[in-house]
Amino acid sequence: MRKIDKKTARKIAMERIKILLQLADQRMRENEEDLAKRYVNLALLISKKYNVRIPRDMKYRICKKCKLFIVPGKNARVRLKKGKVVITCLNCGYKKRYKYK
Ligand SMILES: [Zn+2]
Repeated sequence: MRKIDKKTARKIAMERIKILLQLADQRMRENEEDLAKRYVNLALLISKKYNVRIPRDMKYRICKKCKLFIVPGKNARVRLKKGKVVITCLNCGYKKRYKYK
C-alpha cells in the first residue's frame, strides 16, 4: 500500500466526510432514515479517526443526541429567538441553539 502523509490523509478524510453528509442529505429526502444515519455515523467515525472537524455548515445538521441528519422543515423545527437559532430535532426532541450573524 502506498504511504500517504498526514496532511493528504486528512484532506482525503475531509472529502469523504463531505460526500457522506451529502449522501445522508439525499437519503433523508428519500425517506431512507436508516441509511442516512449510517452515512452520518461513518462521517463521524472518519472525523474522529483523522481528527478532522465536520464543516460548520454541516455540523448543525447532525443531531447531537440521536445523530440523525437534520433537514429543516422535515424532521426538525427551526425557530429564531432573540438573535439565536433554535433547531429542535423532531426525532428525539434535542434542542440545539447557536447565534447567527
Ligand atoms: Zn435527535
